[in-house]
Amino acid sequence: MKECILFGGTFDPIHNGHMAIAAKLHEVFNHQVTFLPTGIPPYKPPSQVLPIERLTMLQLAIGYTDKFAIDTLEIEQDTFCYTYKTLSLIRQQIGIATPLFFVIGSDSLITLNTWDNWQSLFNLTNFIIVHRTGYNSNNMPLELRHEFYQRVTSNLSEFKKSTSGKFYLLDFNPMNISSTKIRLDIKHNLAIKKYVPLKVQQYILEHNLYH
Ligand code: ATP
Repeated sequence: MKECILFGGTFDPIHNGHMAIAAKLHEVFNHQVTFLPTGIPPYKPPSQVLPIERLTMLQLAIGYTDKFAIDTLEIEQDTFCYTYKTLSLIRQQIGIATPLFFVIGSDSLITLNTWDNWQSLFNLTNFIIVHRTGYNSNNMPLELRHEFYQRVTSNLSEFKKSTSGKFYLLDFNPMNISSTKIRLDIKHNLAIKKYVPLKVQQYILEHNLYH
């Protein structure tokens, strides 16, 4: 079965928290993890760096490995990218019977009901939830909590076979890192080497990004 694990994000820049999540996903699902960098994120202020710079940092972080891949579908567009539209396109490519998994942090989970066409997402994909410090899934609004508790499973082998519509909580100790903090640290001339892969740090310095 050709299942598909998608890790969507702005990756502005990619950080060690993202990389640790991807490594854990690869270990648990024993499957390639595909990073899906956003084009212009609809819910965030515009990035200070070019899409090609975010993409290059992602490529530098991943290096040459079969464990990870990058899907450039969204980042190559210069319009808003709604997740349901992207996942509909991917669904057309992989067919209706292929399990699809979309990875989100618990900060994104608790606002899932604000995503465009959010209920249609359950016909397109499963969700893998990664706990994020400070964001408790009990804080979901009622309509979302209802969907979540109907759909969540702790049975990994059952989840791996599901084509769409289920949630699974990844057993993972979160790293307290965010791209926002990294961008702020750079502005304040603070060291970021603890937070990003070495090649990404070098690229940021060489290209004077986020100042
Ligand atoms: P920003 O600070 O700019 O909002 P970010 O650090 O949240 O960025 P994104 O690229 O937006 O990074 O994250 C992509 C996905 O990874 C999101 O679903 C987010 O919730 C999740 N994520 C990012 N960092 C972590 C982390 N440290 N722990 C758990 N999940 C994370």
